[in-house]
Amino acid sequence: MTTLLGCIADDFTGATDLASMLARSGVKVSLRIGVPKEPPKDTSAFEVIALKSRTMPVSEAVKETRAALSWLQDAGAKRFFWKYCSTFDSTSKGNIGPVAEALMSDLKTNQTIYCPAFPENGRSVFMGNLFVEQKPLSESSMKDHPLTPMRDSNLMRLLEPQVSQPVGLIDRLTVAKGSNALTTELEVIKDKGIAHIVIDAVANSDLEVIATSCMDMPLITGGSALAMPLPELYMSVGLLPSEAVIQEKHKFGARSIILSGSCSVMTNKQVANVIKAGAISFCLDPLELAENGPQRALRWLEKQDFLAPVIIYATANPASVKSAQNKLGVANAGEIVEQALAACALVAQSVGVRNFVIAGGETSGAITKALGVTKLDIGPEIAPGVPWTFSYSKGNEIALSLKSGNFGDETFFRQALKVLEV
Ligand code: ADP
Repeated sequence: MTTLLGCIADDFTGATDLASMLARSGVKVSLRIGVPKEPPKDTSAFEVIALKSRTMPVSEAVKETRAALSWLQDAGAKRFFWKYCSTFDSTSKGNIGPVAEALMSDLKTNQTIYCPAFPENGRSVFMGNLFVEQKPLSESSMKDHPLTPMRDSNLMRLLEPQVSQPVGLIDRLTVAKGSNALTTELEVIKDKGIAHIVIDAVANSDLEVIATSCMDMPLITGGSALAMPLPELYMSVGLLPSEAVIQEKHKFGARSIILSGSCSVMTNKQVANVIKAGAISFCLDPLELAENGPQRALRWLEKQDFLAPVIIYATANPASVKSAQNKLGVANAGEIVEQALAACALVAQSVGVRNFVIAGGETSGAITKALGVTKLDIGPEIAPGVPWTFSYSKGNEIALSLKSGNFGDETFFRQALKVLEV
């Protein structure tokens, strides 16, 4: 099918998050890991390309994103969505602004919007300031992020150093008046030469107003939640044909495993919760892995019968992570754990596991690479922004759930396995 909306996400779990928001409509959504080498074939109405461009140097991020845009244009898309994190993760040098300007230039458009709000996950934008739950972004745990520490909550101030064109705001008072008022304001602000418009949203109803006014813009930028209303809007004006609305039925395989490499506060709680509920568990120690490799874990895994939930995790509290990083180096510790979890996924697959619940963005990247996965079809949602996805690996259909650090509540792993029972 000709692609209606071409989406580009700046990281992996962000792409599954966006894809799941679009798939809530029941429309088929495909996710490609990286820009496909082959020209578009068997495309869906909604195509999402997952890049790993969030922390790349600006020039590389721009180059990759342009390549993704070009592939999506070849797939027939005329409308595009640039998805970044709902906490606007970036540095003063980029990459959100420069990538948006490159896309605007290629699409020959002189206006786009920015709305990272994701109300269901506690992200809202008010008077141009981003909140995480009830705290301003700069007071949330994002202030200490190792790669993109967010020390300002004001989106205009964050965006201005990243772009060459003027930045403006349309605030909640206009959004609250509805889509006609917003459409008028967008025109007014365009006439003033403002290219980059931050728009407030604190609730899903605000996102619906914004999506209604902006659905025909060549480029929309934002968090995943802004994409949620688009499928129904396209249907309402006849842009989406009825056959797009039939989601393919996928069957889940019998055996499942949880592989957790995220060390976020929420993932720590989720691991503890599933173990307390009776999961058979194996804890990976980065120091032991560095010395002896993952053999002990792999042998353990081969002995499991998978009748009860099985979890292999390196998830640890900040003090343990710091201690391992001090001894092994930050990147090396991460790499050792990622490779061990990838090796575990391969052994699990060889003993018949077909469902993989994976926690951690980088971890997801390493495991999907090991499994040779390049395209995912989006299935049922487990928690806001975290769907089951379906793919093929070594000739078998497999199901993957890729969860970024802080998504899901404490019972996420149990919920993911519960969906398999239905
Ligand atoms: P998140 O989505 O929470 O950021 P990621 O998988 O992207 O999770 O990042 C977590 C990183 O931490 C990975 O590189 C992983 O290998 C590494 N890691 C996991 N457990 C440990 C540990 N116990 N000590 C040090 N690093 C770890």
